[in-house]
Amino acid sequence: MTEKPFPINFENRVKNDSFLGEELLKSLNEISPISIRFNPSKKKQIDTSNNPTPDCYRDQQSSNPILWCENGTYLNERPNFTLDPLYHSGVYYSQEAGSMMLAKVLNQLDLDNNPKILDLCAAPGGKSSLIASFLNEKGLLVSNEVIHARSKILKENLIKWGNSNTVVINNDPKDFQRIPHFFDAIVVDAPCSGEGMFRKDIDARNEWSEENVNLCAARQKRIVMDVWDSLKPGGYLIYSTCTFNEQENEDNIFWFSNELDAEIVDLDFSPFKTDRIKAGAYAMPNLVETEGFYIAVLQKSSDSKMLKLPKVKQQSLTRIKDLKSISQFSKTAGFEFFSWNNIVFALPELFVNEIKLFQQEMRIVKFCTEIGTLMRDEILPDHALAMNSNLINFNQKIELTKEEALKYLKGETFPLEGKKGYNLITYQNIPLGWIKHIGSRFNNLFPKEWRIRMKID
Ligand code: SAM
Repeated sequence: MTEKPFPINFENRVKNDSFLGEELLKSLNEISPISIRFNPSKKKQIDTSNNPTPDCYRDQQSSNPILWCENGTYLNERPNFTLDPLYHSGVYYSQEAGSMMLAKVLNQLDLDNNPKILDLCAAPGGKSSLIASFLNEKGLLVSNEVIHARSKILKENLIKWGNSNTVVINNDPKDFQRIPHFFDAIVVDAPCSGEGMFRKDIDARNEWSEENVNLCAARQKRIVMDVWDSLKPGGYLIYSTCTFNEQENEDNIFWFSNELDAEIVDLDFSPFKTDRIKAGAYAMPNLVETEGFYIAVLQKSSDSKMLKLPKVKQQSLTRIKDLKSISQFSKTAGFEFFSWNNIVFALPELFVNEIKLFQQEMRIVKFCTEIGTLMRDEILPDHALAMNSNLINFNQKIELTKEEALKYLKGETFPLEGKKGYNLITYQNIPLGWIKHIGSRFNNLFPKEWRIRMKID
């Protein structure tokens, strides 16, 4: 790999730090490890009779698990994910192994059975999809991204991941002051100076400066202070970055524990701990196969002063009582169905009021699961329903070969045997989307904006 010089102040700092040292610099000039994390609720449904497991995984015969995340695995080399239909159906997510430390942290926390978790800085959705799998349809995940264009990518990735209890919103951290004492846990995967990106994205080295480290540390403080009131007494704030400097990591954690009514939680991460780390844990590229990640947890004192949530007012949502047309496509037990501008949504019945509160106070981008559009008495099924393995209940399916699946994902139509009307298109038994069969050919209902655009030979 090309060795581009490190910023001189970065290099000096690392060399003078016995925890980081020359070994870190050497590892930053090596090739990045490639890893994926499976979606447990989809992986178990894959038909392994012809083509076991996703292409990229099978082709590389990988059996190199990530020790701190049971759904994670390393790959020997980077495949072309675009050409694997299972990537588009949310069977796995391409994610840096260090980020998967979040799985180990979540498993360690004492959370209630149906926790409400906020992922505050969530796009493109790596941590959110991990949290959704951790929740396994229990509780509620509110996934937020402040930059509007990025919130759309977050929405796409979470639709493909296919859980029923996920709301995507597009708000500034300070907007959460309107929802005090609401969340059992808040994940702040903070925007940072990105020293952990120095090998994957070699240009990140040009963008680094001490001034930027200072700016990032100050912004991280602001973000956590802004969202803090939204955490319940006794709740957890999980803070992470992909950078190595103390200012953005431990120094911030100590600053928060002094400024806020909070204790630092001791993490059960012995392989990643050294004397230098006074709070949290690091995945260091010179010690484990990762690009670099820092994670720490603060617990809010249980006797923090009480704050009141706003009342839910009368809204434009209409509850659907007659579920006949919906039940042709979707399971109904455990959900309430609402229409909003003729779009039908399934909301988990346990959290209807909470989700209404979000509709009232925040900017909604994804409202749990969109079932379809109401056209008189009929429903035009939505792609989000096809992706949701927990809600979908539709037996008219057509299994495609890989070649056909890629054509389908490109938005093409081709001769295909099948019954007239809506059909669920599957590849290796996992839904890819809808078609409407009209006899000799079909209308391809795969979302236009998510089509594969590259040329396939
Ligand atoms: N958690 C994401 C994942 O796992 O895919 C990665 C998040 S990335 C490290 C940080 C995110 O914070 C970016 O999506 C960025 O747009 C967002 N961000 C930037 N400035 C912010 C701010 N002032 N407040 C909140 N979020 C911000």
